[in-house]
Amino acid sequence: MTEVNKQRFYKKLAVTGLAFTLVGAGTLGLHSLNFTGEPTVASAAAETYTTTANLNIRSGPSTSNAIVATVKQGTQLTSTEQAANGWLKVSYQGKTGYVSTQYVKESTGSSEPAPAPAPAASVYVATANLNVRTTASTSGAVMATLKAGTQLDVTAKAANGWLKITYQGKAGYVSGQYVRALAGMKVVSNPESIQVVVNKQNKLPENYVPKDLVYTTIPFTFKEQTEKKKMRSEAAAAIAQLFAGAKKQGVTLLGVSAYRSHATQSALFSSYVQRDGYDKAATYSALPGTSEHETGLGIDVTKGDGTCAAQDCFGGTKEATWLDAHAAEYGFIIRYPKGKEAVTGYKYEPWHLRYVGKPVAQAIKSKGITLEEYYGIK
Ligand SMILES: [Zn+2]
Repeated sequence: MTEVNKQRFYKKLAVTGLAFTLVGAGTLGLHSLNFTGEPTVASAAAETYTTTANLNIRSGPSTSNAIVATVKQGTQLTSTEQAANGWLKVSYQGKTGYVSTQYVKESTGSSEPAPAPAPAASVYVATANLNVRTTASTSGAVMATLKAGTQLDVTAKAANGWLKITYQGKAGYVSGQYVRALAGMKVVSNPESIQVVVNKQNKLPENYVPKDLVYTTIPFTFKEQTEKKKMRSEAAAAIAQLFAGAKKQGVTLLGVSAYRSHATQSALFSSYVQRDGYDKAATYSALPGTSEHETGLGIDVTKGDGTCAAQDCFGGTKEATWLDAHAAEYGFIIRYPKGKEAVTGYKYEPWHLRYVGKPVAQAIKSKGITLEEYYGIK
């Protein structure tokens, strides 16, 4: 198999959601699935299914057969053949068995292995607009000026409290006085994953731009075509379906703000730093790279009349109630639920939807948990 085919194959095999959530996309955990049979046979026809209930896998295609394993709701199984009586032959963690099709749904959309926490290493950011110089002193020539909040690629400590950094492939120096190592901050290793966890402790790589941003087709509270109307293609298709589904049930929604580029977030954050200083700005504004809107998978929505946009009064409205009940059917979660501020770092935001794909959204919804809790990430 080519490397690409191999990755596709293992992706098909991947059991996401439970036992493998912390293994990540690396091949180590997936190899241990030890699929029986010749991989090339399965790769063409294998289908992925998600369990809709806690479910027994049996040694044969009926409930009279022995239980091989019990899997939780939301587990993904791979099947290569349909057995008799509406049973499916599946593989799960190296075992082959049968499940009733009554409790599985064919998976649509991507559901990649869950994000693995990045290894701990200090994340450094500029606490003011900061000159990068050719030598470790203010007499060095200025190569560039970085905005406050920019993540720095620190490679060494230089003399006199200066730091050596790599900037656009070149070595440069910055004064350590305006640099902070952020305790507990990590850089996510899977920014392109539909299930990426971005929060106050897990940031996107510096200057990350999603590759497949498109304009959504839904109506917004404003007319102009700006980046705020963009989402990643899969999320854009899903939000259009959600809006259409809502409308059918008499609920009209409007988009308020979806994608926010790293450049926009950086400009905003550094303007706050100039006004209030880094420490105060960091209390009310997301550090560049830590806003979920930068993933292209988040969107703030509001009522059809445009009122209560990103405001507490949206909570408890007919529209908020509908979203809470139905968003998961379209692959979205209420990202910052009530009573979970200690986990998500955000107070209740009934208007902020996050696309994670249907299997994960439905599992999170049914368990009443957050994305962080689902992946065991803080
Ligand atoms: Zn939001």
